[in-house]
Amino acid sequence: MRFLLVEDDSMVGESLRKALRQDGFTIDWVQDGRAAEVALSSETYDLLLLDLGLPSKSGLEVLRSVRQTGNRIPVLILTARDAVSDRITGLDAGADDYLIKPFDFDELEARIRALLRRQAGRVDSVIRLGELTLNTTSREVHFKGQAVTLSGREYALLEAFLDRPGAVLSLAQLEEKIYGWDDEIGSNAVEVYIHGLRKKLGSDFIKNVRGVGYMVPKPQ
Ligand code: CA
Repeated sequence: MRFLLVEDDSMVGESLRKALRQDGFTIDWVQDGRAAEVALSSETYDLLLLDLGLPSKSGLEVLRSVRQTGNRIPVLILTARDAVSDRITGLDAGADDYLIKPFDFDELEARIRALLRRQAGRVDSVIRLGELTLNTTSREVHFKGQAVTLSGREYALLEAFLDRPGAVLSLAQLEEKIYGWDDEIGSNAVEVYIHGLRKKLGSDFIKNVRGVGYMVPKPQ
């Protein structure tokens, strides 16, 4: 899962990026409204974490322009402004949820999980596909009743596949899901992680669609 974090406070931004990365999310971080718009128009994100008080363009303006383009990305507002009217304006402009700073990181994680569930149309934290289950809260993966240990990138890749079972994902789409701007992408890196997943989940689990990409088929 790849998020865009828009936060002009360097300390808050740095600590959020670090903590969310530890959760296995890929984070791109920008510090002003215009940079946020550029990022949103050029990359595909799974979630937008948006501060309201920003240089160059306010979070509210960013939100309005995102929704005007028809982008349905889940948006969580992070704001120090505790005035009720700001929250109402934010929600009415298309935000899905908000948190008032300072907030508890555990609560932020729970709200993120809730938004991602809703976006994927799931009612609980467990993604099931055939004999595989993935718990997005505990990050535990079970296959044929056995616990499977995955690296952070293998987990991110698996989650991307399970998000769209039966869909063929190109290498570029997969790279986009698991690498942020600051990450070095080694050559063949995605293939290496796919190889790792196949070793743990069986060689048939991920199909290679020649010249197009990879997919995890829906169970018959
Ligand atoms: Ca701010």
